[in-house]
Amino acid sequence: MPEELETIIGLEVHVQLATKSKAFCSCPTNFESLPNTNICPICCGYPGVLPVFNRKALELGLRVCLALGCKINGRIYFERKNYFYPDLPKNYQISQYKVPLGEGGCITLSTGRKIGIERAHLEEDAGKLIHKEDCSLVDFNRTGIPLLEIVSKPDINSADEAFRYLKLLKLTLQYLGVSSCDMEKGYLRCDANISLKEKRAKELGTKVELKNMNSFHGVKDALESESRRQRISLEKGERILQETRLWDETKKQTFIMRTKEEAHDYRYFPEPDLVDFVIEEPMIEEQRSFISELPAVKEARFKKEYMLRENGLTEKEIDILISHKWLADFFELSVKELGDSKNIANWILGPFLELTNSLDKGFEQVKITPANFSKIVKYFLEGRLNNLGAKKVLVNVLTNNEDIDKVIEKEKLTQVSKEEGLMPFVEQTISENPKPVSDYLGGKQSAIMFLVGCVMRKSRGKANPKVVKEMLEKRIKVKGGKI
Ligand SMILES: [Zn+2]
Repeated sequence: MPEELETIIGLEVHVQLATKSKAFCSCPTNFESLPNTNICPICCGYPGVLPVFNRKALELGLRVCLALGCKINGRIYFERKNYFYPDLPKNYQISQYKVPLGEGGCITLSTGRKIGIERAHLEEDAGKLIHKEDCSLVDFNRTGIPLLEIVSKPDINSADEAFRYLKLLKLTLQYLGVSSCDMEKGYLRCDANISLKEKRAKELGTKVELKNMNSFHGVKDALESESRRQRISLEKGERILQETRLWDETKKQTFIMRTKEEAHDYRYFPEPDLVDFVIEEPMIEEQRSFISELPAVKEARFKKEYMLRENGLTEKEIDILISHKWLADFFELSVKELGDSKNIANWILGPFLELTNSLDKGFEQVKITPANFSKIVKYFLEGRLNNLGAKKVLVNVLTNNEDIDKVIEKEKLTQVSKEEGLMPFVEQTISENPKPVSDYLGGKQSAIMFLVGCVMRKSRGKANPKVVKEMLEKRIKVKGGKI
């Protein structure tokens, strides 16, 4: 029986690069188009047509390679990967084989583990098959859309580590602005290789390829299940066969798709219709200039600056703030205005995100500036606006950045803290609610909050609840609750 088995995982991620047109023709790439409307003789592989390489695809791919610390190959060329499949009208895919765009590099997880990058290469996507009950349909809109395939080294040791790697890689790609990475639209896809070996063994075990995972959780579950399957087989003394297996999301298990004997020989050869491309220094420098602070670095800095201090943020709060570059920037600019990270974070993670998530296009629709936003929080902290009033102002200005003071005046939202203004509401509330008043007098502390709520409603949310509570307590105790 083998002892101390170690799981070895490598991941292949395909990311769709955010270009307006396809990799080798001028067809648009929008996802919403009707099937087979974004197509032309080039991406449909008509005889005699010639591909023209999209410079933007090269630039975005280059940006990723630089951010991952890859060595850039200065002269690249494309090759044909030959195979037949109904979603591939040319019967070959233009890809890079011997010389990828980038090689080497790594991603450092927050656990400190470095996951090496084997290579990153450019290629075009295939079409999409849609299987119906009695037939299969093919949509070529996706055919020829530029992809970057990022292949990790077999440095990953668990399903959980694979999940962390994918999350960080996705966030990095989003920060770089090279792809929305929308998995539901297939903009990011992942295949995995997994094998088990004895810890001391130098040679890797027989690897199994896993496909058909549609989410990062799917990848994690598939790797866990496959690791278990291989472990059980090895412990029984069985041999692992080199094969490709598909993940069944419903049954939560992998099943065999093809064995090594059925594996393709793609007969790669250089694409004769495209010239070699030389990547010159100015292009590299230009792309490097688009790389700002990456998520792993930002996370470490946020923890240092905002977590490790009195009244600091929690790890979870930081996780949410850095989950979107725009949000992280908005947070920091607001903190700069107000100088109070805890309260800014509370208002961003609470009302601000709640409102933003209800917008169709999320952050894209938000117009409020960090200066205006921090003013709302400031007014709240100063007591000029109560919680409800501050939220109302935020609703009013979130998508138009209107002047806060004008909105407060227009909506008459200034918090009422003066006792004379509130006394009539307090009196009324006490006379209308004899039961809660006597409950409070009888020692039921929570009854006072009910009465505060009544006064708040009467003032249409404008009263300062702290002042109201004090007034009620004073008034009930002084007169024993009697009118
Ligand atoms: Zn086309």
